[in-house]
Amino acid sequence: MSGRATKIVATLGPASNSPEMLESMIRAGVNVFRLNFSHGKSEEHVELARQVREAAKRAGREVGIMADLQGPKIRVGQFADKKVMLQVGQKFVLNAEREELGDDHEVGLDYTSLPQEVSAGDVLLLNDGMIVITVDAIEGAKIHTTVKLGGELSNNKGINKQGGGLSAPALTAKDMQDIRTAMSFHADYVAVSFPKNATDMEMARQLCNVAAEPGHRPGLIAKIERAEAIPRLEEIILASDGIMVARGDLAVEVGNAAVPALQKRMIRLAREHDRVVITATQMMESMITNPVPTRAEVSDVANAVLDGTDAVMLSAETASGHFPLETVVEMAKICRAAEDGITFRLESDFTGKTFSRIDQSIAMGALFTGHHLGAKAIVALTDSGSSALWMSRHLVQVPIYAITPKLATQRRMTLFRAVRPLFGGVCTNRDAALAQAETELKSRGVVSKGDVYVITCGEPMGSPGGTNMLKICRVA
Ligand code: PGA
Ligand code: MN
Repeated sequence: MSGRATKIVATLGPASNSPEMLESMIRAGVNVFRLNFSHGKSEEHVELARQVREAAKRAGREVGIMADLQGPKIRVGQFADKKVMLQVGQKFVLNAEREELGDDHEVGLDYTSLPQEVSAGDVLLLNDGMIVITVDAIEGAKIHTTVKLGGELSNNKGINKQGGGLSAPALTAKDMQDIRTAMSFHADYVAVSFPKNATDMEMARQLCNVAAEPGHRPGLIAKIERAEAIPRLEEIILASDGIMVARGDLAVEVGNAAVPALQKRMIRLAREHDRVVITATQMMESMITNPVPTRAEVSDVANAVLDGTDAVMLSAETASGHFPLETVVEMAKICRAAEDGITFRLESDFTGKTFSRIDQSIAMGALFTGHHLGAKAIVALTDSGSSALWMSRHLVQVPIYAITPKLATQRRMTLFRAVRPLFGGVCTNRDAALAQAETELKSRGVVSKGDVYVITCGEPMGSPGGTNMLKICRVA
């Protein structure tokens, strides 16, 4: 395969938010930037989004922007000394009504109904499970606990309940405000944190669609990170455009050991339902402080690629790490090498697959034909991007070039595995459009004289969902 098929999502933060760094990261292979709404003010996100678009222009390659909502993450308040050291065996109180800053005996909470939702015997995990406390008793707004696994606890660290079961709604008032901010800069994707069912996603979609300008409705990504979401995985996937295997919070709720098998299942289910999937969290964690990854991290990224993920994600590595650029370069290399090791099984993938739509049948036909003929490229002339999405739900060696006259579609497709999203001017004449596509492929060095490629389009040109034509071409 020419180039890399798996996409890279990089989270922005102090380590990466300069114009030069953004441009370098795009050149190094970032396809989508994640704006993390758990941090920063809305003006900062607006400005960052503007800088991303400009950096993409300078680098000559479009990237997507994903606005990641904070969601109902439950956090401890702040400490007088910014942090405390908790010792194994000591007592510690979470007090929903505490207004003064915390100390090593007690701290406030940002979710005031937590005391009503936990009971004696529950296990609470702080700071992504680095600290474990068990609930002894509830007394009004106070949760009395004993520290089972000690460590440093600093301001605003997250709290999870083992096994899940907290009822906070998926969208907070802040999230609703953040959706409006994200729609003001045409975010391509909105990631919803902690959804527990399809309704949470449908709610988010409605809010996005109401706030979005025409033609800029975002794709919705469900972050799978609570225990309750697992039995409802399929309905959540169907209500979303994609999912994120959000291994950080998920591992805390369901236990570390359950996550790898869940990751494989989520990736498979998302692809079977024609949705995209991002594998996230701690993929290159040691590169926050080291210039090279560990062997285990290399294997982790490679395995996600082999599982079929559309994208791998970087969090603190690019947001606040010492080596943001090096991390992207390393990650891109790992993806390429892993892709080279894949045995493609399109035939068995297709067994039992039925398509009832004309456009989908054309997309599948193009994929099958391109794969069997050993075509140099599959080209989709697409308005909405759906034909490129269908083509990319099965792994083949042939790269998919998706040419669209819509900038929003081009940016949306940045997340699709194996798809190279290109912008092509509106063309209502079929022969002219086909000729333009071939010229594009030639100028990119994808095809030359004698090479075969497969191309799909809709006739008449320019109507969404109208893909009805498949042509096999040999370059003259
Ligand atoms: P977060 O989501 O980084 O916003 O917490 C990802 C995860 O939980 O893994
Ligand atoms: Mn999370």
